[in-house]
Amino acid sequence: MGRPRILILGGTSEARLLAEALAARDDCNVLLSLAGRTEKPAAQPVPVRIGGFGGAAALANFLKAGGYDLLIDATHPFAERISANAAFAAETTGIAAIALRRPEWQRVAGDRWQEVQSIPAAIEGLGPLPRRVLLATGRQGAHHAEAAPQHHYLVRSVDPVEPPLALDNVDYVLDRGPFTLEGECDLLRQHDIDVIVAKNSGGLATYAKIEAARLLGIEVMMVARTPASIVKAVETVEAALAAIGHLFPPAMKRGV
Ligand code: NAP
Repeated sequence: MGRPRILILGGTSEARLLAEALAARDDCNVLLSLAGRTEKPAAQPVPVRIGGFGGAAALANFLKAGGYDLLIDATHPFAERISANAAFAAETTGIAAIALRRPEWQRVAGDRWQEVQSIPAAIEGLGPLPRRVLLATGRQGAHHAEAAPQHHYLVRSVDPVEPPLALDNVDYVLDRGPFTLEGECDLLRQHDIDVIVAKNSGGLATYAKIEAARLLGIEVMMVARTPASIVKAVETVEAALAAIGHLFPPAMKRGV
C-alpha cells in the first residue's frame, strides 16, 4: 500500500492538532474537511476542503472516489448530523473510521449544574421569572430563546446570529475561545448574569465559564451530549495517533 489517505472531518482544535501531528510525520496524505460555518476559519497545517458533502451517501462516495483508507471524525461533540453521516459512510464503504471525542466535563464540588437534554429544555428550565442569562451554546441554537422572552439574554457566538433574535431583551457578544477565567468573571459580573446555558463540550478552550460560574455561585443549565456513534472512539489526539499507527504499521514506521 502507498501512503495511507486520511480524511479528517474537523472544525475543532483537536482536528487541527491531529492534522499538524500527521503532517509532521510525512507518511500519509491528509485532507481536512470543514463545514464552512465560520467566516474566518483558523489556518490549517494540511490541505483543506470546505462545505458539506451533500449527505451520508455523498460522503461515502467521496471516500470511495478519493481512495481513502481512513475516516477520522474529529468534529465537535455536538455536531451530531455529520457524525451520524460519518458512521453511515464508514459502515457502507467498509473504510476504517475513528471518532476523536474529547471527554465531557465532570461536575466538581461547588458546581451548580442542572443537566438538561437539549437547548429548548434548558430555556424552559429557566422558569417563569425573568433572569439574566448568558446563552453560550453558539448561534445555531440561539433562536430557542424566543420561547421564553421574559428573560434577558446575553448571546455569545463566533459569528453574528442571523437573523437577530425576535426579543426585546437581548445583547450580543462576538468572541471565540480560548477564554480566560478572569475574562469570564468580568463578563458575568458586568452583565449581572445569574444563569449560564452551556453545552457539555468538554476541553479547555471554553471551560473558563464553568469555573467562573463556580467561583461566583452562578447556576449552569448544562446541555448533555447525545450518545456517541458506533464508530471506535478515542478521547485524545495522542490516542488517535496510536490508533492510526496501529492501522497502518508498515507505511507509518518509516515516518516515526
Ligand atoms: P452538523 O449539524 O452535525 O452537520 C450539518 C451538516 O454540515 C452536515 O450534514 C454536513 O453537510 C455539514 N458538515 C458538518 N461538519 C462538516 C465537516 N467537518 N466537513 C464537511 N461538512 C460538514 O454540524 P454543525 O453542528 O453545524 O457543525 C459544523 C462544524 O462546526 C463542524 O465541523 C463542527 O466540528 C464545528 N463546530 C460545531 C460546534 C457545535 O456546537 N455544533 C462547535 C464548534 C465547532 P452534508 O450533509 O451536506 O455533508
